[in-house]
Amino acid sequence: MENTALRLSDILPLTCSRTGSCCYGNKVLLNPWELASLAGAKGITARQFRDTYTEWNGLRLKFNGASGYLGKQACSQYITGQGCSVHVARPLACRLFPLGRQIQNGETIYIHQGTTFPCLEGCDEVLNLPYLKVSDYLIEQKTYEWEIVQNNYLELVQLLADLAFDFLLDPALIQSGDKNSLKQWRQMANESTEELAERIGEEWMNALTVPSVESVNMSPQPFYDHHVQQIQQLLQTSFNSIHTISELSQAAVKVMALALFLSVSVGAEPQLLINRWIETARLNGAQE
Ligand code: SF4
Ligand code: SF4
Repeated sequence: MENTALRLSDILPLTCSRTGSCCYGNKVLLNPWELASLAGAKGITARQFRDTYTEWNGLRLKFNGASGYLGKQACSQYITGQGCSVHVARPLACRLFPLGRQIQNGETIYIHQGTTFPCLEGCDEVLNLPYLKVSDYLIEQKTYEWEIVQNNYLELVQLLADLAFDFLLDPALIQSGDKNSLKQWRQMANESTEELAERIGEEWMNALTVPSVESVNMSPQPFYDHHVQQIQQLLQTSFNSIHTISELSQAAVKVMALALFLSVSVGAEPQLLINRWIETARLNGAQE
């Protein structure tokens, strides 16, 4: 679908009518901080939240509540007649809606989907409410910290991909004539999040989605820093003693699977990423 790019100074009917129509039949992805934060608001552990209220192994909120707007099911956190039960901890996607954001060449771009303002579909009364500048809307929704942590997780995806490249392009693996590693990368382009989760195994899935960080009272940055530390430790214990060609190949595949799995949580498209990375790998000597 075509998107409409916005300037921060654009003035739009951004005052929410609070009918909650966008809390029905929508798709809300969760990065690990958002998952922990929602669990904190609910007073349960991140693991309990993941296993009860999310699908795709913690990467997406379930929309399995009561049917409502246009017969669609409500978000698992929506209470009919009351609204969002986790408002203070709502994810970035909910804070931004009806806006979205993309990173293009290191720059953040705000957009809305389609050429018609999305709220008009279910809440055309917004036309009678105060209009807001995009920049004021972002401040009102307190998106800043949530955007920073989203950017951080995007960087972590890139760091994991870089490590996968280190293994794949190791001279010993290249000189061995290995073709299987890149073949596995290509296969992952068509895998579902469940298949990626199976590839990375339970220990890694837990490490990525529900790190053992005392998150409830933490702000996003310390949470992220602790999380990265834990991932680095696990990377060290998992891949520090690689001796054989086969171990190098397995590491290249597994670490790329970690990057792709995590990429879903920040709204990236794994298929586009892996196809681009395969081309880079081929240009640098990897074979398939
Ligand atoms: S569609 Fe827009 S106006 Fe309606 S509830 Fe959602 S954000 Fe508010
Ligand atoms: S988390 Fe809250 S705001 Fe977001 S979709 Fe669910 S109920 Fe709506």
